[in-house]
Amino acid sequence: MKRVAIIGAGPAGLVSAKECLAQGLDVTVFEKTDRIGGLWNAGTGHVWDGMRTNLSSDTCRFPDFPHQRAVDTFPTQMDMLDYLRDYTDHHDLERVVRYDSEISNVSQNNNGWDVELNTERKAFDGVIVASGFFSTPYVPKHWQEDERAVHSTNVGPFNQYSGQKVCVIGNAFSGCDIAAGLAGAKAKVRHAFRRPYWLLPRNVEGVDVDRLFYQHSDPENPKVKPSSLSGQYRQSNEYFSVLCEGQLIHETLKINPESAKPPYVAIADGYLEAVGSGTITLSAADHIDRRSVDADKVILATGYNTNLSFLDQTVRKALNYDASDRFMPALIGDMGLHPKLDNMAFVGMYRGPYFLTMALQAQMAARTLAGETLVSQADISQNVARAKELREMMVKPQFPYGDYTAVAERLASILGIEPKVKTGDFLPEHFAP
Ligand SMILES: Cc1cc2nc3c(=O)[nH]c(=O)nc-3n(C[C@H](O)[C@H](O)[C@H](O)COP(=O)(O)OP(=O)(O)OC[C@H]3O[C@@H](n4cnc5c(N)ncnc54)[C@H](O)[C@@H]3O)c2cc1C
Repeated sequence: MKRVAIIGAGPAGLVSAKECLAQGLDVTVFEKTDRIGGLWNAGTGHVWDGMRTNLSSDTCRFPDFPHQRAVDTFPTQMDMLDYLRDYTDHHDLERVVRYDSEISNVSQNNNGWDVELNTERKAFDGVIVASGFFSTPYVPKHWQEDERAVHSTNVGPFNQYSGQKVCVIGNAFSGCDIAAGLAGAKAKVRHAFRRPYWLLPRNVEGVDVDRLFYQHSDPENPKVKPSSLSGQYRQSNEYFSVLCEGQLIHETLKINPESAKPPYVAIADGYLEAVGSGTITLSAADHIDRRSVDADKVILATGYNTNLSFLDQTVRKALNYDASDRFMPALIGDMGLHPKLDNMAFVGMYRGPYFLTMALQAQMAARTLAGETLVSQADISQNVARAKELREMMVKPQFPYGDYTAVAERLASILGIEPKVKTGDFLPEHFAP
């Protein structure tokens, strides 16, 4: 029986374990903390108390496993953790997880891979890297010494900031959500960022955001996309300018609807209302001089780096790994395979993985490690070349694989999975076995 090491017991590692067991592989999941769930743990992960998902529960789930408990349309962090525990129990995965087991090195041997932890070295036929794209909080150098500053990962309960002056830096998903949450907890929030994003609530006039964006393509009525990238960006900005019309009355939140730059989007409830009432004040600048920040606390919603330092130098070289690149730190395509790295696969290791794509990548990884040839070496090379092109783009989109439905459809078709439903809302359950 082939032995497979999976690194990480977050959503990607868990779904990989389930798929590998289904292929009859001998699986060990190495998890550096003492629990499953990865970033969905408040405290050891990267979420905060009471955080809600930014996509609905119908999207934040694996294809074969609905949420087992009654959850709100946008589940809380605790709901997601319960979901992952239920998934683990249902598939009896805990028996293959080794906790408190941080992998420190992974290197190729003659037959497969050596995996090292503490003083142990173990040999495996295959390895799945599922250690999380958003793995290490990024704290800009000039903030490292400032005692007022905490990374968004450690923001803690919002009510502790009540009555305080708080500066939130960064306006992607976490920054906007935290700024709105702190305003709701009666903090005086200054929100500082470089450039405005399009801001959407979780529910837009009765439609959940994921349903608004993610629909099966309609062959009767195909969407016409401009051929040039700048034309596509312009089309998207025009679309968002209608959806997000309310923000255009605020000078600092104005975005040109005709802009040919890639649109950047954030999802937060109550944000515009708080700006309107003055609970959130805004400042946009390329550089924020920390000495000029008048605040009791500073929340750094400045994102994450991806840590792949546990991979041996030859592996890192093959991946062209650059820890400082927060868009595409390693040349890993959306298939999660690499032409130079036999019997190694990557699951969830790109900016912005969703549950369905993680499940499809996991199936791809497991079937490949079990010996199936799903794609040619030429296709894998091309997939990695595409990652390189994305890395080298001068003006980068918000997410390298932002066309979620196209990525999922392509992976499903490689796996021979026909969606059960082909019209309307695009949901993971349509790709269930
Ligand atoms: C703040 C935030 C909010 C998000 N909100 C959503 C959302 O609403 N909906 C959504 O679909 N997605 C969301 N995402 C995307 C998110 O990345 C995925 O949902 C998912 O959690 C990724 O799972 P993962 O298993 O790849 O990574 P993680 O959840 O990060 O898990 C990785 C695991 O690997 C372990 N590990 C790392 N290195 C090692 C090592 N060397 N040895 C052993 N173990 C190791 C870690 O301890 C961890 O348990 C969000 C991301 C962030 C950062």
